[in-house]
Amino acid sequence: MSHPKLANIFNEDEKKVDWHDKALWFVRHKRDLSAHRVKGWETLREFGHQIKAHTLANLDQYLIEFEKNALSNGIEVHWATNAEEHNKIVHRILKECQAKKVVKSKSMLTEECHLNPFLEERGIEVIDTDLGERIVQLAKESPSHIVLPAIHKNRHEVDDLFQQHLNTKPCNGDPQYLTQEARKHLREKFINADAAITGVNFAIAETGGFVVCTNEGNADMGAHLAPVHIACMGMEKLIPKQDHLGVFLRLLARSATGQPITTYSSHFKTPAKGFKMHIVIVDNGRSEQLGKPDFRASLHCIRCGACMNTCPIYRRSGGHSYNYTIPGPIGSILSPGKDLKKHSSLPFASTLCGSCSDVCPVKIDIHSQLYKWRQIITKEMKQPMLKRKSMKIMGSLFSNPTQFNRFAKFCRWALRNLPKSILYAKINVWGKSRELPKGPKMSFTEWHQNRENTKRMKNNG
Ligand code: SF4
Repeated sequence: MSHPKLANIFNEDEKKVDWHDKALWFVRHKRDLSAHRVKGWETLREFGHQIKAHTLANLDQYLIEFEKNALSNGIEVHWATNAEEHNKIVHRILKECQAKKVVKSKSMLTEECHLNPFLEERGIEVIDTDLGERIVQLAKESPSHIVLPAIHKNRHEVDDLFQQHLNTKPCNGDPQYLTQEARKHLREKFINADAAITGVNFAIAETGGFVVCTNEGNADMGAHLAPVHIACMGMEKLIPKQDHLGVFLRLLARSATGQPITTYSSHFKTPAKGFKMHIVIVDNGRSEQLGKPDFRASLHCIRCGACMNTCPIYRRSGGHSYNYTIPGPIGSILSPGKDLKKHSSLPFASTLCGSCSDVCPVKIDIHSQLYKWRQIITKEMKQPMLKRKSMKIMGSLFSNPTQFNRFAKFCRWALRNLPKSILYAKINVWGKSRELPKGPKMSFTEWHQNRENTKRMKNNG
């Protein structure tokens, strides 16, 4: 289904839309307060942008450097060209160590590769250990946000879900009780896990180590208790030097939730004695995106989610309406590169207000890329007849001031005089969920001209 259709489904529950909107705006506001407290925030963003651009321009060298250093640290390095290869590699490693129970911390890459169903079909239990991820896993849903995976669920829904799956008592959505129960449930999973899977936030070419950021410490619990740690990493996660971490760690948490730093920024470099550490480096379409100069910068993304929290469309249509692993503005520029036809409605799910680009900690020109995708989609894909015709009419109106003024005059008259049954007829999508404004008697230009004329007459005495 296209974005407008899925957004319509989300919009059926107005109350939910309102609190979803408010909850995300609250996070956006916290981001603003936190960013404004940092002197030189804009310089930090610029550093982040430049480091990422430099890394991507020299990615081949940095990948080789990272592999060399990781191998010498005792980490086994694997390469996967696509999602299927990634899943097969992870499965092979788990099979070799006879792992049947796996704990996994939040990793959007494994969501992108659909790793959980792949392993579950092969008899391996995978438990998502991030609380939000565990909630959506129990609900058999996908995350609706990259940082707040269960933001579309309220505490009462979580209460019901836990009663059903974890045998908890009804608690009227008491967050403390629910978190305690989740903790007990997950502790048992951590203790009995045969292997742990984590994502990678930053991999450092210079040291061959990597960093995983969580707020719950679940990546550490998994990786330190289980004898095997598999880290799955998109190949764009590289940064050249350890020193660069200071830039990204300061940007990431502030942009994501307004925290100065994530509660746990866990550095992994060498497997402990008797433990094994693997890293799977995945391409899965990233090289192709890298080869598109207009869209290359989308690979700068550090997955903070700020562009989602600020986007008026995301906030009122929900993450699932994007029908793609990464929702929101950044998902709308990544997804058409994967499957233009399937995701052709996403670049249009934006007001092009530019707020996404303004908050992006690594200065991705998100709204410009959305606009570029629109142009490509309009050229390459057949648009619905109504849209084609109306765009042609609007194009000719906008390019002829006389015609435009006449049309605008007619619209103002229509807004004042036509009956509601015509103004709000089905064909007028603008009137579908909003009150149309009262038509003013004159246009702004006419009003301005009148004002200037009056002024001139007064001045002339
Ligand atoms: S595009 Fe920018 S704002 Fe959006 S998730 Fe990525 S880094 Fe964050």
